[in-house]
Amino acid sequence: MDYNALADLLFPDVTAKPEDIEKRFPQRNLPEGACVTRIGPSPTGFVHLGNLYNALIGERIAHQSDGVFYLRIEDTDNKREVEGAVETVINAMNYFGVRFDEGAVADGDNGNYGPYRQRQRREIYHVFAKQLTEQGLAYPCFLTAEEIDAIREQQTANKENPGIYGKYAEQSRSLTLEQIKENIAAGKEWVLRYRGVETDEYINVEDAIRGKLEMPRNNMDFVLLKSDGIPTYHFAHVVDDHLMRSTHVIRGEEWLSSLPMHVELFSTFDWKQPVYCHTATLMKLEGTGKRKLSKRKDPELALSYYQQEGISPDAIWEFLLTVLNSNYEEWRIANPEADYHDFPYSLSKMSISGALVDLDKLRNISKDVIGRMSAEKIYESWLEWCECYNTDYAELIRKYPERTIKALNVGRNAKKPRKDLETWKQACDFMSFYYDETFKISDEMPEECDSAVQKEFFAKYLESYCHEDDSAAWFDKVKAITEELGFAVKPKDYKNNPDQYKGSIVHITNMLRIALTGHANAPDIWEVSHVLGEDIVRGRISKLCF
Ligand code: GLU
Repeated sequence: MDYNALADLLFPDVTAKPEDIEKRFPQRNLPEGACVTRIGPSPTGFVHLGNLYNALIGERIAHQSDGVFYLRIEDTDNKREVEGAVETVINAMNYFGVRFDEGAVADGDNGNYGPYRQRQRREIYHVFAKQLTEQGLAYPCFLTAEEIDAIREQQTANKENPGIYGKYAEQSRSLTLEQIKENIAAGKEWVLRYRGVETDEYINVEDAIRGKLEMPRNNMDFVLLKSDGIPTYHFAHVVDDHLMRSTHVIRGEEWLSSLPMHVELFSTFDWKQPVYCHTATLMKLEGTGKRKLSKRKDPELALSYYQQEGISPDAIWEFLLTVLNSNYEEWRIANPEADYHDFPYSLSKMSISGALVDLDKLRNISKDVIGRMSAEKIYESWLEWCECYNTDYAELIRKYPERTIKALNVGRNAKKPRKDLETWKQACDFMSFYYDETFKISDEMPEECDSAVQKEFFAKYLESYCHEDDSAAWFDKVKAITEELGFAVKPKDYKNNPDQYKGSIVHITNMLRIALTGHANAPDIWEVSHVLGEDIVRGRISKLCF
């Protein structure tokens, strides 16, 4: 077979040589040890937590080493493409504070190693496909879907590995140039296959997360170009990561099984193989076991879930860092005030046994993260979220910025600061009592405080209320009314002699707290009153006096 003639027949328009392409993508001029990493999401419209998980690793190791982190859109599967999906990926990453140094941007590219959308790199792949054809390492295959199905059935019956290889590839491999010409002239569709070697060798790959991997060397005639001329993931990944000079390929463990194909291609082209880092699948606890997060069953797999819930990007980062690196929590305890970017992230500390996504843990981390923010920062981030997801609320907090910031500071200077806020969505709920527009009494008044007690208490409370009282003076007044109403000022007294009292001061303050905040579980009444202001306090109490 004249392979050059075959290459010209298959790729008549390709005139560039591999060297020309190499020149367009020179080695990067980076300091020694700098890592070049990327994420390569498919534009399906669904950005999942795994995308962010891998992005975070890539971002960390690139930026910790003064390297480059870029975004490549892997759109070789047009069946899965959804309009606007690239913007969705970029916006989601942006929301979570993942910044790319280069790569695809909404309306084009940013950087010298583009295009960063694989469909736009078609001629680049064709140059290398032509090279492989000239070397006799790739050939056109005209097998139809039905023929491939029949082969698969036979293989299943014989308990053989599925795929086109060895004797199953013979028919296609042995076509003459003439036959190939005829097939093409007859309009038959073809794919370009790599010519695998029959081998029982093993390959060794040092995975930066999993350590040494030993796998059978590829023997498959796998597809390089599909019938529409678009490359498969396997071919595109190798060409792109080579040309874009990626030093590390961070991707999900679902790609482990195809690693031998990628290693085969790197070695065939004599290109330096990047360091592979196969990350563990995201899991969740169910019953006593763990299972893979599922797109159908688990809303938390979608990144949009965290945006809609208003989980702050910082909380997601901290959470993912605890999932990613076993020593993160220890570091956080030792460095409570530090920026998480200062954590020395390390690939070797990664878990390989399934990364556990525990939403309760995320909420706890989120409380701590918000607890560390200043009230001003909370206000700003919460408002930004409200502008997107709860515009009525955005309007409300924009109307009362001072009151809101004061409210956000309530209970934060105590010895054990309150951590009431978990997410921006929950903040809208929790903070609603600070505004008459959203205030409502949700909890039941304590049983001990019937309507007669309520009326009497609130009337006396109003009468004696002086907004200027300090906390102690205010509480003395509450105690005095408590006593007047026949309630025990000391809860212990009521506990020891329940018959002598109608209840205790705990019931009275709960009633008052519910009157002012709608909830029995709310911050300090005196502090809240000073955020609300005298008019609102009097207004809410007056309504309960009659
Ligand atoms: N397009 C692949 C995916 O969405 C990316 C794998 C990779 O990063 O190489 O899973």
